[in-house]
Amino acid sequence: MNEEATFVGSSPASEHKISCGNCKGHHNSPQGVRKCFEGKEIGSCPDQYYLPGYTEDGLRMIEECAMDLWYDDRGSTCTNGHFNASMETQYREGWRYADCPEEAANLRSMGIDAVSMRGDSI
Ligand SMILES: [Zn+2]
Ligand SMILES: [Zn+2]
Repeated sequence: MNEEATFVGSSPASEHKISCGNCKGHHNSPQGVRKCFEGKEIGSCPDQYYLPGYTEDGLRMIEECAMDLWYDDRGSTCTNGHFNASMETQYREGWRYADCPEEAANLRSMGIDAVSMRGDSI
């Protein structure tokens, strides 16, 4: 995220409200409701990504996913498939997320594997 960008809000799909018979609240996806019934804690996905195109001012647009997410043994997964490993998992498996190539190089110099925020190599 080093290009000039502006935050435009949450994904429209995250506004979708489905009443949940389990927690008596709302989720934005059938999967979220199902996971809630399975006893998972449902959160809101913090992942941010660029939208296609630019604003009138030539800025990239960043949208927050904000879809239902739930936690399992390794971390959290949202209905859009965004996976974020917990710190515990990163330590246990001997790797860390890195925001940029410099950070990745720094981690590798300490003998720690670096993985991009998207989950691939950096
Ligand atoms: Zn629920
Ligand atoms: Zn997401």
